[in-house]
Amino acid sequence: MRRTGLAVAAMAAVGALTLTACGGGSTGANGSSDKIKIGIKFDQPGLGFKDGENYKGFDVDVARYVAKELGYAEDKIEWVSAPSANRENMLQNKQVDMIFATYSITDKRKESVAFAGPYFVAGQDLLVKSDSDISGPEALNGKNLCSVTGSTSAQKVKDNYAAKVNLQELPGYAECVTTMAGGSIDAVTTDDIILAGLAAQEAYKGKFKVVGQPFSTEKYGVGLNKDSDKCAAINTAIKKMIDSGEWKKALEANTAGTGYTPSKDNPPAQDACAK
Ligand code: GLU
Repeated sequence: MRRTGLAVAAMAAVGALTLTACGGGSTGANGSSDKIKIGIKFDQPGLGFKDGENYKGFDVDVARYVAKELGYAEDKIEWVSAPSANRENMLQNKQVDMIFATYSITDKRKESVAFAGPYFVAGQDLLVKSDSDISGPEALNGKNLCSVTGSTSAQKVKDNYAAKVNLQELPGYAECVTTMAGGSIDAVTTDDIILAGLAAQEAYKGKFKVVGQPFSTEKYGVGLNKDSDKCAAINTAIKKMIDSGEWKKALEANTAGTGYTPSKDNPPAQDACAK
């Protein structure tokens, strides 16, 4: 009897969970929902980072500001992990409404998704051990380099340096840095602001340095499904965030203590929305 009682209680608990999941922000078949699903990184400190139940970082702050301008208060946001390799798919399948995830605007990506923004301009760089003499991508001859699948960073290496570098691709930059700390990787490559945030973590203090010679221009856009009607409103919100001083405040707060200095291309003007 006792066993049956527990089983019934367990069933009820599962039922409640299922109901919560269904009510919790999934867009109905008719497209109506009072929630908005936003894709961010969960593992990039200073940009998109899941800290227990809290979501932190510059991408997250810009997303929050934009969502609010679109009429979605914080409790209407559902944060979804959007790893580099999954972003186009997630937008095309409408698993998310918008992506703020260090997501560079590129012509290739525009074939499958749309972008609002940019809201930030970064540059590809290298993270190396503090005592390393690697000074730029042309010094990677025969070295072990780590980057992330589906990123512009990995693509650039393949396009320009593939013959000389041993490139290992992992799902996230945090994994690359862990691997470098373990000793089997000589350098990690992606955007300077991402590398600065990762290197500033307590566990790595003093171990790594960002080379500081950016070799690309990465304009961070807001990823959208091609059907989205939100681009113009998002651009208006980004401009308002910049003009109000909130953008600068958010950037400074999220890069404090990392030694990072944003390039002169910041804050950027927003591109015209695609028709
Ligand atoms: N901004 C680059 C990209 O969109 C690298 C960072 C990332 O993978 O998120 O691919």
